[in-house]
Amino acid sequence: MGGPRHSVPTRPRTVGQLAGKEKADMMPVEKCPVCGGELAEKEVEKLLRGGLHTAVVRVRAEVCLHCGERLYSQETVRRFEDIRSKLERQETADFRPMGRSFQVV
Ligand SMILES: [Zn+2]
Repeated sequence: MGGPRHSVPTRPRTVGQLAGKEKADMMPVEKCPVCGGELAEKEVEKLLRGGLHTAVVRVRAEVCLHCGERLYSQETVRRFEDIRSKLERQETADFRPMGRSFQVV
């Protein structure tokens, strides 16, 4: 279901060619960058906002067992960006409605 067209069995080894920030994102992280705690892969719910809309996405993330920091793969981050821009453009036909959202002031 919409999987990658080409399979990449391992992470790219050419991280040295990438710019500083990207390089850090591509590196496999074993410790939490915030507190140095242990990370565990979990399925998490991420709240995304775009324009007036909000979407909840279930993704796998590395979650720090100590402080709760979540680390997402670049592929996941790209998915978030795609969903956010769809929300902004109101292209929500593919998304399942999930009740109403309210703002409490
Ligand atoms: Zn942490």
